[in-house]
Amino acid sequence: MKIGAVRGMRDILPEETPLWQKLEAEIRAAFALYGYREIRTPLVEEAGLFARGVGQATDLVHKEMYVFPDKKGLTLALRPEATASVVRAYIEHGLYAKGGVAKLYYFGPMFRYEKPQKGRSRQFHQYGVEALGSLDPALDAEVIDLAGYLMERLGLPREGLFLRINSIGCKEDRARYREALRDFFTPRAEELCADCRRRLSENPLRILDCKRGGCQPAIRAAPKSTDFLCAECRAHFQEVLAHLDRLGTPYELDHTLVRGLDYYTRTVFELASRDLGAQDALLGGGRYDDLAELLGGPPTPGVGFAGGMERLVLVLRDRAELELAGKLDVYVIPIGEEQEVKRAAVWAASQLRRAGLAVDVEYLGRSVRKATQVASRVARHALFLGPDELAQGVAKLKDLSSGEERPLKLENLGAAFQQKVRARG
Ligand code: AMP
Repeated sequence: MKIGAVRGMRDILPEETPLWQKLEAEIRAAFALYGYREIRTPLVEEAGLFARGVGQATDLVHKEMYVFPDKKGLTLALRPEATASVVRAYIEHGLYAKGGVAKLYYFGPMFRYEKPQKGRSRQFHQYGVEALGSLDPALDAEVIDLAGYLMERLGLPREGLFLRINSIGCKEDRARYREALRDFFTPRAEELCADCRRRLSENPLRILDCKRGGCQPAIRAAPKSTDFLCAECRAHFQEVLAHLDRLGTPYELDHTLVRGLDYYTRTVFELASRDLGAQDALLGGGRYDDLAELLGGPPTPGVGFAGGMERLVLVLRDRAELELAGKLDVYVIPIGEEQEVKRAAVWAASQLRRAGLAVDVEYLGRSVRKATQVASRVARHALFLGPDELAQGVAKLKDLSSGEERPLKLENLGAAFQQKVRARG
C-alpha cells in the first residue's frame, strides 16, 4: 500500500520553494529594518506551556493541539503557535536582564489539528515578531506599521488589504466584559448555535468569533469591549489609534475581534486580504501584558503578531513580478559513450561549480538533441563535450537563448566561462 503525506500536511515542491525562499528573505529583511533579531525555539514543548499560556479552554489547546507522552510519561505537544515558546525562552535565558525592549522574530512550522480547507492546514508555517518589555502604545503602532510595511514590500497593494483593530482591555476589564456578554447572550441562547451555547458558559468572548450566519444578529447587537475599558486602557487604545492616524495607516474598528487565544490584553488586530475568501487573515496579533508573569517570569508586557506563510503564497503565487527564474547556469552534455568523455564532463561540472556556477550534467544518456531540449528548459547554457573537443582541450558552449556557440578552453574552465559569459553581461 502506498503511504501518502498526513492529511492537512503537505510537501512544498521545488517549483514552489523559490517563492518561499524569496518571501522568507523579504520578511527577514523587513524584520531587520525594524530592529528584530531571530530566535529559534524547539518544535516540541511541554504541553503545559500552552495550557497555561494560551489557555486550557481555548480551541487551540483543548481541541487542536497534537499532544503525546514521551518515554518517561512527560506530556509534550507539537507547538500550535510560537508566542508562548518565545516568552518561555525569554524568561529561561533571562533576556529581560539585558534591559530595553527585546525584539525577537521567528519562522517555522506550527501544528494544529483543524479541519483542512483552503488557507487552513494542520502543519502550516508562521513568521512572527514579539517585542517584549514596553507598555508604550507607540510600540503597538510600530508592530502594526511593520505588518503594513511587510505587505508593501511584498507588493501587495493597500486597496486589497484591511486592518481590523480592537481593544479588549486588561484582565479586570475583560472580566467585566465577559460578565456583560454572559448577561446579554443568556436570554438569547436559543438564537445561538450549539457551539456558542457551550461558549456561553466557558468563554462568552469566543461567541464573537463565530462565523455562523444565525449567530450574527445577536453578535452585532452585543456590548462592545471598548465600552468596558478602564481609563488607562482607554487612553492606551486612543493613543495607538492616534499613532496609526499619524502614520497614515487606515483601519477599521471591529468590535467582534477578540482573537482565539487567552493571553491577549488591550490591542488586538488582524491584517486581512480581500483575495482570500473565508480564511482571509494574513496575520494577527496584539498585546499580551500578562503572559510572561503567567509563565513564571517577571511581569513583562509584550506585543507582536504572527502571519501564515501559506496564505501569503496563496495571494502572491500568481503575481508576475514574483516569477522566479531558478535556472541553472550550465547543463553539461557528454557526447558519445566513451567513459573518458563522461569523466571529463563530470570534472568540467565540478570545476564550473567551484567558480560559483549552478551546473547539472546529463546523466540519462539521452541523444544530444533530446539533452539539448532538456537543457533549454532548465539552463541558460549548454556545454557539449565529445571526443574531438576533448582531444583539442576545449568544450563547446552554447547560449541557449541566442543559439550562439563558441569554444571554451578546458584549462581554467571556470575562469574561462566567467570571462566569456559574464564579460558580455
Ligand atoms: P493565529 O496564531 O491563530 O493568530 O494565526 C495567525 C496567522 O497564522 C493567521 O492569520 C493565518 O495567516 C495563519 N494561520 C493560522 N492557522 C492556520 C492554519 N491552520 N493554516 C494555515 N495558516 C494558518
